[in-house]
Amino acid sequence: MHNIFNRKIAKTFFLFIGVLIPFSCFCWGVTGHRVVAQIAQDHLTKRAKKELKTLFGRETLAEWSNWPDFIKSDTTNTWKHTSKWHYVDLPANLNKEEFIAALKSLPGENLYTQIQAMEKEVSDHSLSPDQRSTALKFLIHLVGDLHQPLHVGREEDQGGNKIKVTWFDKPTNLHAVWDEMLVNFQQYSYTEYANILNIASKEQVREWQDSSLEEWFYDSYLLANKIYARTPDGSKLSYRYNYIFMNDLNNQLLKGGLRLAKILNEVLK
Ligand SMILES: [Zn+2]
Repeated sequence: MHNIFNRKIAKTFFLFIGVLIPFSCFCWGVTGHRVVAQIAQDHLTKRAKKELKTLFGRETLAEWSNWPDFIKSDTTNTWKHTSKWHYVDLPANLNKEEFIAALKSLPGENLYTQIQAMEKEVSDHSLSPDQRSTALKFLIHLVGDLHQPLHVGREEDQGGNKIKVTWFDKPTNLHAVWDEMLVNFQQYSYTEYANILNIASKEQVREWQDSSLEEWFYDSYLLANKIYARTPDGSKLSYRYNYIFMNDLNNQLLKGGLRLAKILNEVLK
């Protein structure tokens, strides 16, 4: 009797843990990354498409866009060193010059160093096709992460992970709201979402693509500052929050896709 009772408690406990795990994610959810990847795919040059075929065959950018998150569950430690590649943490409210100096002097591997490292590997034909396609999978994902503003957030709250909020009365944290809740709230499939966003004029596309990698980071950082200011710990978020930030969210997904295309058109040759 006692034993059965204990087992019941254990079962309930593990069910409870199972419910909690999905909320401890660290990146744009699967839809966000796929939207960015799909928009990029639609802006590839002929040459880039041809080279992509030699690395991915008929598989799409969207299909591989979440793989660098999935491998966080790998238990062999093969990919453990890549967990720091998904973000940078910087102090609050720096001006552009201060920000770029701080970004460039961050120690060790991070989102900024690894986007550049992956670009080099994808374009390096002395590497094996396997190495190049692994680098490509990371590149697709990391450029997406760069456009999730809280991946260019602050160290003290771990990019919003420590800022507790509610989303339609459900307890969560600010980082998760920007990874998943806001994107999922739009209720589009990733192809629908990509099609809806992918209507920028040629001039707009050029403007967003033509800035530097450092400026793209600064762009996300400015939005992160706006989000921090608007979302203190304990915020109760719902319809109004979506209304305030929907445009920013959509712009980030679109910019991410267009800039990923720009990078891929340069490295896939
Ligand atoms: Zn990530």
